[in-house]
Amino acid sequence: MSALTRLNPSPVWHYFEEICKIPRLSKNEERIRAYLLDFAERNKFEAKEDNIGNILITRPSHPEMTNRKTIVLQSHMDMVGEKNADHPHDWSIDPIIPVSNGEWVSASGTTLGADDGIGIAIQLAVLTNKNLKSGKIECLFTVDEESGMTGAVNLRPDFFSGRILINLDSEDEGVLYIGCAGGIDTIGTMKYRSGLVPDGIIAFNISVTGLRGGHSGDEIHKGYGNSVKIMNSILRNLSNQFSISLSQFDGGNLRNAIPRESFATIIADKSSEDKIINRVKTFHATLLEEFGDLEKELKVTIKRTGIPLTIMDRESQEKLLSSLTCCPHGAIAWSKEMEDLVETSTNLASVKFEEDNTIRIVTTQRSSIDSSKRDVAAMVETCLKLAGAKVEHSQGYPGWKPNLNSEILKITQNSYKKLFGREPAVRAIHAGLECGLIYEKFKGIDMISFGPTIKGAHTPDEKIEIRTAVMFWDLLIDVISNIPLKNQDTIS
Ligand SMILES: [Zn+2]
Repeated sequence: MSALTRLNPSPVWHYFEEICKIPRLSKNEERIRAYLLDFAERNKFEAKEDNIGNILITRPSHPEMTNRKTIVLQSHMDMVGEKNADHPHDWSIDPIIPVSNGEWVSASGTTLGADDGIGIAIQLAVLTNKNLKSGKIECLFTVDEESGMTGAVNLRPDFFSGRILINLDSEDEGVLYIGCAGGIDTIGTMKYRSGLVPDGIIAFNISVTGLRGGHSGDEIHKGYGNSVKIMNSILRNLSNQFSISLSQFDGGNLRNAIPRESFATIIADKSSEDKIINRVKTFHATLLEEFGDLEKELKVTIKRTGIPLTIMDRESQEKLLSSLTCCPHGAIAWSKEMEDLVETSTNLASVKFEEDNTIRIVTTQRSSIDSSKRDVAAMVETCLKLAGAKVEHSQGYPGWKPNLNSEILKITQNSYKKLFGREPAVRAIHAGLECGLIYEKFKGIDMISFGPTIKGAHTPDEKIEIRTAVMFWDLLIDVISNIPLKNQDTIS
């Protein structure tokens, strides 16, 4: 007997276990695709595949329910493969071994792939559920969500016909998601002239470390320190009082992380050594006071170092420091409709001195409103141009604007209250989801996202709470049973 046989809802766990046997890392989804097409054929459902590899399986409506609106259920077929270093696992052939402790299902030594295997499993269980009387159900399985969302990016607007969609890729039972942010990168490249280092000077390395950092979407509003901004303040402050020249500035790393560390090398007159060191120490104390408990580990150090080969010309230095001073970072606007939702933000992600006297400044902007995303990107662009930088934007991806009058939201809230006797939370997230891309292509589509509780997704500690899988199933079935008539439009 297998590990999950006795768990409820048994059809969901049956399919989940089947899926665990199929290797399906992003961009290697051939076998899960074949499995889904075979499933459709065995069960006599219509199925189709598009050019990029997304699959749609359609369950026709029950004869008494042909007047119901069509509903789309969506999951993604790929997963993230992470394993413990000492655990042998070949992602191209080995099955995932799910284990249950009665409360949670996890995998031994690897990611479980409940993100989003549980979404696929519940779709298959819905498709084959003989007791469910419903209108037409279209099950959409996208490819490559985890490494670029190329499945959702390349969806054709005629691939499915439903205009109500439930995304099955959320990880918090009790929370209904109704929005996400779009994003864009704004990157500045500036050139400077380098000069020779004069005689009689000394050099320092300055470092800013120990900050919390965090995800540039989920954590942008928390007020954590930005090491690039802090280093820039130190340099600007020093350059206002002393004759210093910048030789190096290296801060931040990933475009979607708030920068945690920055390092700079400067030169100065020997006579100002003590004053500069004291100034930096005072600055550190002021910062600790400013941040209070939020950034207790913040460290700012200054140390003598060897004389660098070259320095930046004064004019470029002045422009760079001014530009970074103007460049915004953090939450820019909050949602007018939803409490505690950051609507628009920007992350000053990194500054790097690269070869050929080039400085690269990377920033990312997010917003659930596309026009606001473009506005804040233009604001950042203007700041970078102050430094004489050449500015480029990435193509970006669209957001999904929350609609509190959504019909599917009302249906889901009612089902949730009826089944579990309490109100679900309604939230939007300040990060990207496939829903943003779908929202842009399928004009007027009404969407919601919910799921069971999954912890530690994308790590070998990934686990799914069994109790919440039962709730997920009950909720989904009840929502599908309550999809309104075609000509009934409750959206105001
Ligand atoms: Zn996912």
